[in-house]
Amino acid sequence: MKYLIKGGRVIDPSENMDEVLDILMSDGKIAGSGRSLQTKDAKVIDAGGMIVTPGLIDMHVHLREPGREDEETVLTGARAAVKGGFTTVVCMPNTDPALDSAEILAKLKIIIAKDAIVNVLPAGAITIGRLGKELADIKEMVKEGAVAISDDGSSVEDGELMLKALKNAKSAGIVVIDHCEDIVLSNKGVMNKGFMSTKIGLRGISRESEWIRIERDIALAEKAGAKIHIAHVSCKESVNVIRKAKKDGVLVTAETAPHYFALTDECCATYDTNTKINPPLRTAEDVAAVKEALVDGTIDVIASDHAPHTDCEKDVEFDLAPFGKIGLESSLGVSINELINGKVLTWPKLIEKFAANPARILGLETGTLKKGAPADITIIDPKKEYVITKETLESKSKNSPFVGWRLTGKAAGLFVSGKPVMLNEKIL
Ligand SMILES: [Zn+2]
Repeated sequence: MKYLIKGGRVIDPSENMDEVLDILMSDGKIAGSGRSLQTKDAKVIDAGGMIVTPGLIDMHVHLREPGREDEETVLTGARAAVKGGFTTVVCMPNTDPALDSAEILAKLKIIIAKDAIVNVLPAGAITIGRLGKELADIKEMVKEGAVAISDDGSSVEDGELMLKALKNAKSAGIVVIDHCEDIVLSNKGVMNKGFMSTKIGLRGISRESEWIRIERDIALAEKAGAKIHIAHVSCKESVNVIRKAKKDGVLVTAETAPHYFALTDECCATYDTNTKINPPLRTAEDVAAVKEALVDGTIDVIASDHAPHTDCEKDVEFDLAPFGKIGLESSLGVSINELINGKVLTWPKLIEKFAANPARILGLETGTLKKGAPADITIIDPKKEYVITKETLESKSKNSPFVGWRLTGKAAGLFVSGKPVMLNEKIL
């Protein structure tokens, strides 16, 4: 089947493209782009007033399957991804059991093939059971589709083991996605350590717990000559460490999440457990540093760190609630509001962080509208106004601090491998 997306503003940073064009898809691939393309046998999609981009990629989500299907499943998480404008998500291995072997990844692959309406690519665990004791078999996991390794949710405490993992990842040709946290320094905290934590009487997580571990792991990656991707950067010092390492030529890339440039630790004053996130929401100064890092390219990627938890789990005292919030369905909208409408980034720069950069870091063929590439496309209505409500979320869990937010700009259409998955905001 052929599809022709007509008259949209096509933004493809990988091709330096930003103009009103038509895009033709055929046999699951991008067949070409140009002005006033005509083809008799193609179904035409009118994209007038829309922005047409390479399919967006969220390289940090938790789909909770296997083990916590009450929180999220591959099926519901993939539907949330569609609503959020993502054609590809990378699911983290902190499931139960952890995604730490070829056998478990093979089983997950069957579930993905059956249930997922977008591309779901797993990250394998760095260590068996994510226990930080023994390395998982990276080569075997790559054969079963792992696109990265990560012990996300935990940091690898043992530096020697981390160095070996980096060397193994290098020889397997994949990146290490690194959750950086020194648990001695984070000291069982529940929010950012500082004025607010003292004021509202909650235990603080220091900034050192994040940036000192980033510094260590960058040094190890440099020694191994391996690619390292720093997950969920939240504070100014972390940005400075990464900026310097990039200047020094280390193969480091970094991501942040929308909550780190849209919210601060003042939100915790309501004791809303949906603001309990790890790393924690920081201060206005950190928000400014994260935005600056997005502008100068120190931070390459925006990822949601979609972390579903049930109402039951979150409806407890702040101290007892699990860390995390959902984000697949708010990530793009919050980013448009804060970064485009807030005049921080241009549209091409924003799309680079949602498509071209994650594709490059993960070594994917997508993230581009180049002729011959898989036809993964997102159509964004930049003027659509809406309010995020629990009722409209596809995710099985509703733990979002953005519920009630009025946003402008939303994904309206989605093609995965040349097939329409959402049109006019309706999942097909
Ligand atoms: Zn993490």
